[in-house]
Amino acid sequence: MRVFERLDAGHDWAGDETAVIETVGRLAREEIAPRAAELDRTGAFPWKNVEAINALGLNGLFVPEAYGGAPMRYAVYIECARLVAAACASTGIVWSTVFHAIKPVIDFGTEEQKRRFLPRIASGGLAALCITEPDAGSDATGMRTRFTEDGDEIRIDGGKRFISNGDVADVFLVFGKWAGIEDGKAAISALVIEKEAAGIEVVRLEEKLGHRAASTAELAFDGVRVPRENLLRAPGEGLAILFAALNKSRPSVAAHALGIARAAFASAVDYINDRRQSGRRIVDFQGVQFMLADLATDLAMCERWLFHVADMIDAGEADVGIEASMLKMRASDLAMRAADLCVQLHGGYGYVADYPAERYFRDAKITQIWEGTNQVHRQLIGRSFARR
Ligand SMILES: Cc1cc2nc3c(=O)[nH]c(=O)nc-3n(C[C@H](O)[C@H](O)[C@H](O)COP(=O)(O)OP(=O)(O)OC[C@H]3O[C@@H](n4cnc5c(N)ncnc54)[C@H](O)[C@@H]3O)c2cc1C
Repeated sequence: MRVFERLDAGHDWAGDETAVIETVGRLAREEIAPRAAELDRTGAFPWKNVEAINALGLNGLFVPEAYGGAPMRYAVYIECARLVAAACASTGIVWSTVFHAIKPVIDFGTEEQKRRFLPRIASGGLAALCITEPDAGSDATGMRTRFTEDGDEIRIDGGKRFISNGDVADVFLVFGKWAGIEDGKAAISALVIEKEAAGIEVVRLEEKLGHRAASTAELAFDGVRVPRENLLRAPGEGLAILFAALNKSRPSVAAHALGIARAAFASAVDYINDRRQSGRRIVDFQGVQFMLADLATDLAMCERWLFHVADMIDAGEADVGIEASMLKMRASDLAMRAADLCVQLHGGYGYVADYPAERYFRDAKITQIWEGTNQVHRQLIGRSFARR
């Protein structure tokens, strides 16, 4: 594993960044990882882990100082997201979703909006990002949730499907269509709803294959009213906000997937160094070594690409859509491959709950589906090469 130790040691973190990453690594190893199997078994929301994350003030990593945060580079958040996901994918996505939902408010909100919404997040609040609807998944522009102007307020009617943190969020960033703008895409707008608003209903919580301790809710908005000031930018600017938001959330879900991949790879390597058959360790069979070689090489390359994209974002590059798509697609395919290999190399023991292999396998699958399915990413990457 020296190659991965060197990879981890090869970052140019500043002193205070190293301290945060080491602290999060310790939290992940000593508190979050030991709870992961039980949380997965019971499906209970990981409140203790959220409390531990908040005790360290980790939401502050991405909230500007003026609103209660202690921000660091995006790359630092990305590394922390990877470490938490490696320990417990459910906890990882609960925390990362807060970032995904609140980053557009940070990037596009007015001073007044930031003053109202961000301190709540900096002090440990949860957030949810509401895009998907029953008939609008890969093509989000098909969404039907409606925003209707009514005096000084906006009325929200509609519903959202598969919303991470949907039942526990303090703040919801919701995308919908502005009533009165005919063109479907031009109508897309974004606004913030706080949990106290009347008319938000949790219709159901999903029973899931993996990420079982993270909650995924179907929400209905029935005449929910928010002040006009909760609208991000102008009516119809939602699609631009959405694309900009995805450029930062996709590397984040890639970090999450790479956390699962690294955990699965490490678990497989541990096991096959001990397990013996035919008088030899499993790791000594050449067929097995070839499997490790291919996966380790792809994993190391993809981890470098993760920080290449993070560095671009830290440098202020806005046009990172294709790099982020490549990263999300490859990282999530690797998570699935690593988890598959982990189960395979554990033999029958990989298929039962005594080892984490089967959990990694179940947790990895969704990473190929959310934040744009990998088919959609292949399409985006491929068509970027077509001359206009
Ligand atoms: C656990 C979980 C958590 C989630 N969290 C959130 C969240 O917090 N917020 C949120 O808004 N959403 C969330 N989602 C929704 C997720 O992003 C969507 O499920 C995803 O975008 C796919 O949409 P869909 O399920 O409607 O599938 P569909 O779009 O119906 O796709 C079905 C299949 O068709 C393929 N397909 C579709 N279009 C094309 C195309 N053009 N070319 C080739 N193939 C295509 C897809 O790749 C897929 O294989 C979550 C989902 C889950 C399961």
